Amino acid sequence: MLKEVPKKRVSHVVKRPGRLHGLPDVEIPVADDLATVPGIPKRDEDVSFYSRVYPVESQNIEKAADREWVWSVYTEEVLKYRERHDEINQPLVDASLLTGDIAPTAAPEVGKDMTADIHLKARELGFGEVGFTKFDHKYAYASKKRWVKYEHTICLALEQDYYQTQTIPSLEAEFAHFGTYEIEGALALDLADYIRSLGYHAQVHSPNDNSGVYIPMFVAAGLGQLGANGQLLSPHFGSRARLAMITTDAPVTYDEPIDYGLHNFCQICQVCVNRCPGRALVKEKVWWRGAEKNKLIYERCRPVMARYDGCGVCMKVCPIQKYGAPSVMQHYVDTGEVLGKGTHNLEGYEIPEKGYFGPGSLPQFNRQFFEIPHGRREEWLFEEFKEKIENEMLPTEEIMDFAVELKKILDEGGTTRGDE
Ligand code: SF4
Ligand code: SF4
Repeated sequence: MLKEVPKKRVSHVVKRPGRLHGLPDVEIPVADDLATVPGIPKRDEDVSFYSRVYPVESQNIEKAADREWVWSVYTEEVLKYRERHDEINQPLVDASLLTGDIAPTAAPEVGKDMTADIHLKARELGFGEVGFTKFDHKYAYASKKRWVKYEHTICLALEQDYYQTQTIPSLEAEFAHFGTYEIEGALALDLADYIRSLGYHAQVHSPNDNSGVYIPMFVAAGLGQLGANGQLLSPHFGSRARLAMITTDAPVTYDEPIDYGLHNFCQICQVCVNRCPGRALVKEKVWWRGAEKNKLIYERCRPVMARYDGCGVCMKVCPIQKYGAPSVMQHYVDTGEVLGKGTHNLEGYEIPEKGYFGPGSLPQFNRQFFEIPHGRREEWLFEEFKEKIENEMLPTEEIMDFAVELKKILDEGGTTRGDE
């Protein structure tokens, strides 16, 4: 006879709106042993110190060398698709950049809190998660600090297709990934128009031209917690969503961060850490820029992402993405186990030309696979130039080529194509 497993004690129950507008609210029980703090454990003085002394910068600038390099290793199909996506997306990014200067189209209703109106409109447009918080300049990119005009932030998450995502890594899943950005970029502009019709300014922070690190603000707005995969785990779809923000001067009420139990749950789950083909995810949490988190190793992730259709295995194998937090957390309370862990259904994936990898098996890559350009474009150019000088006497033409290339990069501001 099977021994009955005693249920875990529940610390608290989180109530959230349904996945989409019109769907009933859901309840998420958080087991006693998963409860920590609302949002993320952090040391505010450290967050402030790092933002002052080592401000964050966009990967489009800081990691421009490898972001340029990825275009050279894309398959032909991915390359064509990415070029088409950029054609569709760039006008949305350009339009967003200018939205902060557009005047409201009506007079505001004096004294009215606009939270409910904006929330309802955003949900009607299709955003699955909508929350309000202050724009935290500590997370703004150095190059964007002056661009942000208004202090209230509307955090918006748009779910990407469930079925396409389960085929990760694949071009099919990239359609879901980039297609969601295209829709979200347009919807955010629509929502900004609506806010202007209420009498207020609305500045769109494009999902493809981020103004800063978005996740801490989404966590502050109660829309999820940071997962061990380095992504926002929102209650309905985990990290299977794309994030955008709107800053506004409309009077709104801020949400509060929530403890969904995910900070501790990830340490028990570890599925993404164990399944990452690049071994880019780290089991232990560390303190990084004032927050306690599992820190992704970028240099081990990027080569896999670039060569295998954006990878995303860490999103696909996450039980919160696949089953949603209400089911996963209830299952944990009932059984003490992670729903789906150890199953092919959750953990299996196929890597082109390498085959299928089920629970416990991972693809192998040699050292050269991980050798990619690092840093800013000019830094990488200089690295390569230095190596050449060390190994050989360079003819004058090559030195001139270096100078011309360097000037070109500096004139372009060192950046590359938009956020992914
Ligand atoms: S995208 Fe792939 S390589 Fe990168 S962290 Fe996720 S699973 Fe690992
Ligand atoms: S797979 Fe598990 S450990 Fe990784 S982010 Fe999802 S819940 Fe956390």
